[in-house]
Amino acid sequence: MTQSRKGVKSEARVIEQYCSVCKKTFDMEVVEEAEKNDVLWLKCPGCEGFLPYMIESEEEEENEVEAAGGGQETAPEDFSAEDKENSLEYDKAMTYKIDDIIYHRSWNDYGKVVAKETLPGNRKTILVNFGHQGKIRLLEGEG
Ligand SMILES: [Zn+2]
Repeated sequence: MTQSRKGVKSEARVIEQYCSVCKKTFDMEVVEEAEKNDVLWLKCPGCEGFLPYMIESEEEEENEVEAAGGGQETAPEDFSAEDKENSLEYDKAMTYKIDDIIYHRSWNDYGKVVAKETLPGNRKTILVNFGHQGKIRLLEGEG
């Protein structure tokens, strides 16, 4: 394998840029770097003109999953009469499946199992999205 790429001196940086004067894309030499580092000046080899090159930061494109304002992250579940009829009363000795509807007697609240998780020590939990209480982690299969 032979490396036949254009020799780029370690100090000279080259950026591919379109020149609107030449109507062509060139590998342009960076002639000046601004102090703030947000704009570079490139020299067009075609017309010998200088062009500003804006450095775009790509870091801001990531979408933050966090809910703005710290409000409710999900809408509470709305349970139909049928859901309530088919609900299982919460008992920590029981085990549940995802999508099971659970009735928590102490809170008089219905919830849907949205996730299951085993904690260190092999303790099993279910994450339940309750209609009033919101998401709450409960133990299952205890004892
Ligand atoms: Zn040019």
